[in-house]
Amino acid sequence: MTAQGVPLSNLLGLPRPALEAFVGQLGSKPFRARQLMNWIYKRGTDSFAHMTDLAKELRTRLAASAVVRAPEVLSLQHSADGTRKWLLQADARQAFEMVFIPEPDRGTLCISSQVGCALDCSFCSTAQQGFNRNLTTAEIVGQVWLAARTLEREVAHQGIAGDVPQAQAAPRAERRISNVVLMGMGEPLANFRQVVPALDILLDDFGFDLSRRRVTLSTSGLVPQIYRLAATSNVALAVSLHAPDDTLRNELVPINRKHPIAELLEACWHYLDEQNGRSVTFEYVMLDGVNDSAVQARALARLLRGHPAKVNLIPFNPFPGTRYRRSPAGVIERFRDELLQRGVLATIRRTRGEDIDAACGQLAGRVIDRTTVRLGNKVIGVAVQP
Ligand code: SAH
Repeated sequence: MTAQGVPLSNLLGLPRPALEAFVGQLGSKPFRARQLMNWIYKRGTDSFAHMTDLAKELRTRLAASAVVRAPEVLSLQHSADGTRKWLLQADARQAFEMVFIPEPDRGTLCISSQVGCALDCSFCSTAQQGFNRNLTTAEIVGQVWLAARTLEREVAHQGIAGDVPQAQAAPRAERRISNVVLMGMGEPLANFRQVVPALDILLDDFGFDLSRRRVTLSTSGLVPQIYRLAATSNVALAVSLHAPDDTLRNELVPINRKHPIAELLEACWHYLDEQNGRSVTFEYVMLDGVNDSAVQARALARLLRGHPAKVNLIPFNPFPGTRYRRSPAGVIERFRDELLQRGVLATIRRTRGEDIDAACGQLAGRVIDRTTVRLGNKVIGVAVQP
């Protein structure tokens, strides 16, 4: 709170124009916002006192009216394969997760957009948790800010008696966030109002300065919002397709009953009209005996052939209580080959972070339990209901 009882503004939630306006209200020139962003995003600073090239008076006013506040970390787990998963606090009873996946040529941060999810896809553990609330822009941007800062510090501490066991510490080159994917908990397009300004900050030269190719938004298929996104922020688009026909997709991804496949694909091709030379990634979870037959692969190829599309096959990641099983590796490879033979680009997503439940679709299922343990708060287990 400020001295006047107004809540402090969290600068992590303000895209550049809003930050310029904010700095203007404090009596400074708008370009000061760029210097401020440089400190916040490039240098990972949250202390106004350290921002030495800003006038002392501005620093004092900032300290009285604003904060740079990322979500609180409840826990940080390291997988044997170098993947890390953070459990972050949304409020006293709720938590959400983000995952960093280091690879030799890139570092991908998978962030959440909501606490839980309302869409009820039958094979997703986040769905089991139900929906609690949208994350704010500051909480979305705060994830990237926090991860970048933590990873930088790991680099600084590597070799010294650090907090990361050496066997689990990725080499330096793998510690940078080169890509951000909105593939954590939640449906990003159901939180459009908070997600779009967050994308702006990720892309801004004075923010995280990521190229549009390196920021991917994944959606279960909210058609009207795909059109809106095309008009506002054309980051890379991934779509959770998971079935080649409406009957099966209605069962796996219930939003399909509202926006069937034909309508969804039309929105995807429209999205690409706006951005030359790119393609939509279609995610397809491989469920044993459900959507993994050669006939289904051919049906999928018919839908996508001739369009700028890639298919990313995701081996199903099981979670407690699920009725699905992962397709055998040979079946997944055959499915991929059926697509490739028909001229549709297809890859198999390598599963990462399974030992810490950080793999696709595993976020959230046990968050509530973990949060219960962490916070010792008996209310948590019943806090969210579908
Ligand atoms: N709500 C968005 C963002 C989530 S992205 C969306 O649906 O696209 C997470 C990806 O992992 C989605 O493609 C989702 O369908 C997939 N997924 C969900 N549960 C999974 C599971 N148990 N195993 C593998 N992939 C899963």
